[in-house]
Amino acid sequence: GYHQAIKENRHLYNILQELRGNIRVFCRIRPILKFEAKSCIEYIGNDGSLMIFDPCKSQNTRKIFQFNKVFGPATTQGEVYKETQSLIRSVMDGYNVCIFAYGQTGAGKTYTMCGSSNGSCEELGINHMALNDLFQISSIREDIKYDIHVQMVEIYNEQVRDLLAEDGANTKLEIMNCSGNGGLSIPNAIIRGVQSTADVLNLMKLGEKNRAFSSTAMNHRSSRSHSVLTVHVHGKDISGNTIRSCLHLVDLAGSERVDKSEVTGDQLKEAQHINKSLSCLGDVITALAQKNSHIPYRNSKLTQLLQNSLGGNAKMLMFAHVSPESDSHGETISTLKFAQRASTVELGAPHQNKESSEIRNLKEQIDNLNKALMIKE
Ligand code: ADP
Ligand code: MG
Repeated sequence: GYHQAIKENRHLYNILQELRGNIRVFCRIRPILKFEAKSCIEYIGNDGSLMIFDPCKSQNTRKIFQFNKVFGPATTQGEVYKETQSLIRSVMDGYNVCIFAYGQTGAGKTYTMCGSSNGSCEELGINHMALNDLFQISSIREDIKYDIHVQMVEIYNEQVRDLLAEDGANTKLEIMNCSGNGGLSIPNAIIRGVQSTADVLNLMKLGEKNRAFSSTAMNHRSSRSHSVLTVHVHGKDISGNTIRSCLHLVDLAGSERVDKSEVTGDQLKEAQHINKSLSCLGDVITALAQKNSHIPYRNSKLTQLLQNSLGGNAKMLMFAHVSPESDSHGETISTLKFAQRASTVELGAPHQNKESSEIRNLKEQIDNLNKALMIKE
């Protein structure tokens, strides 16, 4: 009955995901903070949809968005990680995986990726939990010997800088067009072998220190640049078969639109670079979702750097972060639209007919099951 239908729905959804080229979008709504006004989000349920309205307008402004998952304000870090875990684990089976945190500044990107520690309570982020998982798998698997290395860079104003380099982020790096799984796309960036999560956390601390060193306003800089932590996994089994894969953990620059009339000079330049690179990311994701023959990777440093982890058999997950406060309504709508675009397959290319009808078929079945579930409730 009911449970069977839910199970079947999920199963179909997973198939649909595979057809969508492994692009998943999870939306996370952070809690409303103490000093903030009312919430503009009506969170609907666990079917991946959410409803938003504009409390300042008198007419009905309700809009519904649909994602693979929506995490409401009460969702814990552990619950978020649980939904991400299988994706992360597939890195150890040779899949390239890329996880993005997208959203306006203050929406919770760093909280999701890096966690937070305020005195007594420490909330581990995806980065930490992912690495724990990878090292645990590495220690359990007796059939495969794994080597794990990391790199950490930031992209600021379309320049790639090495966060593990001693001289702060002064060395500018070139991105190489490497083919094949796990090839190094920034061969000149420092790469460190790591044995444990603690090793990686120490490197991340160093990275943050170097980042601060190169910037007078650390907070400003961290919201205006993309930071990319890359975990390279190399595995070898007893008969000499090897796997190579990498996991990119990306804390993107804040997506908020800066009113051009209000900023000038450096800030205008930053805003333009951010807008350009985020819209390139959107274009690449859309092109991948549409299975276009040309994917415009080369239009930004970010997409160039992540090229191997976006196309092919790579798996991608975007966390679209939104703030619930009504003052952010406009930014939230634009984040939701961007994320929706990333998760939607636009049907149309003629050679896609077979898969298109397959997708349409699955969608219909999911719709019907959803209807059946609603009637039961
Ligand atoms: P961003 O990196 O997108 O600019 P932050 O991660 O720094 O945003 O989050 C902004 C503030 O909101 C921080 O004080 C953070 O601790 C808090 N915050 C964000 N998400 C959550 C959450 N899910 N639960 C509790 N606090 C959160
Ligand atoms: Mg941040």
